[in-house]
Amino acid sequence: MFYDAMTVWYFATFIMVVLAGVILFSWLFMREEPALGWWGAALVLVILGLGGLIGRGTLPDFVSIELANAVVLLAAAVAWTGFRAFERRLPVWFAIIGVPLAWIALCQLPLFHSSVFNRTILLSVMMALVMGCAVHELWRGRAERMIARTAAIAVIVGHMCLVLLRPLIVGDVGDNTSRTGMLLRDPYLAWYTHEWLAFLMIMSFTVVALVRERRELSLQHASMIDELTGLLNRRGFMARSVQVCHPGGMVALLALDLDRFKAVNDRHGHAGGDRLLVLFADVLRATVRAGDIVARIGGEEFGVLMPDAGAEAALAGAERIRQVFRHNAHRLGMEGIDGTVSIGVACGEMPPGGFPDSVGPLMARADIALYRAKALGRNRVELFEAADSATVVPISPSGAFPRQDRRAR
Ligand code: GH3
Ligand code: MG
Ligand code: MG
Repeated sequence: MFYDAMTVWYFATFIMVVLAGVILFSWLFMREEPALGWWGAALVLVILGLGGLIGRGTLPDFVSIELANAVVLLAAAVAWTGFRAFERRLPVWFAIIGVPLAWIALCQLPLFHSSVFNRTILLSVMMALVMGCAVHELWRGRAERMIARTAAIAVIVGHMCLVLLRPLIVGDVGDNTSRTGMLLRDPYLAWYTHEWLAFLMIMSFTVVALVRERRELSLQHASMIDELTGLLNRRGFMARSVQVCHPGGMVALLALDLDRFKAVNDRHGHAGGDRLLVLFADVLRATVRAGDIVARIGGEEFGVLMPDAGAEAALAGAERIRQVFRHNAHRLGMEGIDGTVSIGVACGEMPPGGFPDSVGPLMARADIALYRAKALGRNRVELFEAADSATVVPISPSGAFPRQDRRAR
């Protein structure tokens, strides 16, 4: 196969232009993500650096060696800054400017000035260090579980290893002054060009995937959160509950409904009612055990799922919630607010099918117990018991807290 390394370099530049265009174009649509801007800028810098490297032998050595590689290092530092921006950290300006300047300064030393091999080692080490910083940023944010994050770390680490191996693979090509213009056509460098090209292409797709995955996760998160209280909403409650409940384990479910809440709205307006809802949500957060799942199911109805809890623990938890709410409601300074809540408790063993199969019946039972608490005068906790079974109404699989006519209560 006829192979002209120079053509590959030109082709690489062309691909870089397309990739930079794609990243910057994506940034136009996702302006809230500054990382895309940084990564796009990094690719533009790679193109400029590549232009200088291709000009080796035509351009003065200072431009094609020191300056061109300084721009490539600057591109790496800018890409690292992109990862910092992605993790919501500020740029480290002294490092962004310092890395390329350090390269230019070190190149003036005889050790590097007169030896391509030594310069290659220096460049590889500096490049690997900057990429190591990018990996460090991604690693620090690993609590946010993302497939693209793992992919990005793997791709950068792989490339980092190859960059460090470069001096060993290319070897000592001798004094650059006698090989001016030839270095870039060196077949030993062909693999390197291909590898860089592959890295930049894969990385470009990976950074766009990173941004998209985070977007999807935040939309998914938003769809599961109740805006007013910050608790899970019904959808989030179901999703989280499925994750924590294991078939065969015990589970308790609390159905909570604020008492005479309509009267609060009537007296203090909708905003006053909202304040009471927020306060109740705070009480729930502060009162439940770690691992319990708390949600606003809708209106002034809340749910608490207690994994691995029997009737005794669930009743104690419900009673604690009732009392803490009662003691704290006066903090709002709203006249005539008693801060009472009625709570229905249902317990059971997870059937082999797990939570999705049992959620309906369990919620129906908790709601029947809640109905009894309301009927017995409100501001109390009631446990669903076998005798209540006769009143259990069949519900649809998705039916949580089936609506019953509580006007009769
Ligand atoms: P009970 O003791 O029987 O539970 O009586 P209640 O008044 O609490 O129950 P009812 O179902 O009659 O009224 C619930 C009220 O909750 C009616 C509705 O306007 C109000 N509500 C629902 N969602 C919100 C909300 O997001 N904010 C406010 N402020 N009010 C809400
Ligand atoms: Mg109510
Ligand atoms: Mg209600």
